[in-house]
Amino acid sequence: MIKLLINSSGRAEMSETSFGGKPVKNIGEDFHWPKCSCCKLPMQFLAKLRIDEELHQIFMCQNDPGMCDDWDANGGGNTVVVIKPFELEFVQELSEGETLRETEHSAKVVSVDGNDYEAARSEWAEKNGISPREVLDQISGEPSWIQGDETPNCTVCNKPMEFVAQLEQGPDWKTEMNFGGGGVAYSFRCTCNGSAKFLWQC
Ligand SMILES: [Zn+2]
Ligand SMILES: [Zn+2]
Repeated sequence: MIKLLINSSGRAEMSETSFGGKPVKNIGEDFHWPKCSCCKLPMQFLAKLRIDEELHQIFMCQNDPGMCDDWDANGGGNTVVVIKPFELEFVQELSEGETLRETEHSAKVVSVDGNDYEAARSEWAEKNGISPREVLDQISGEPSWIQGDETPNCTVCNKPMEFVAQLEQGPDWKTEMNFGGGGVAYSFRCTCNGSAKFLWQC
């Protein structure tokens, strides 16, 4: 079985998967907007993914696209901030850097039979008369690599991390995420300490 994330317009619940918009934090907890280790500027908030009881908030440097190794799981040009949502509020926008995307949309999960993500994606689109671009993502399952398998190892326990999601660039070319042009991103976590990593290929 494959879990697809289908684009749906409108704003999502704060504690649910959404793309663009602002990141969230628990009321009363500090939030340090992640900075790129290459250019030192704040990274752009791409999306938040609801993974079981956690929210995985993905950030990637877009201050000078292509210059900060933002594709690399360990390059410091992207990061995943994992929180356990309790009582959420939006994080205040920063005044410097390319920090927010010009879009905000939610997504709904549908489960479909099969074990091949690419096939499931095109079948869903065809059956429902929508563009494959409206299928944003798969949650859990197996990564469908564009290039070779680049499953990252956990920085703490050094074991291969668990795959949690695969992200397409998005439904609209004008506001899509920049994974190198037709690229795909992959997100992982490790249960040893709850850390997460992100990378993309094209
Ligand atoms: Zn940077
Ligand atoms: Zn680990």
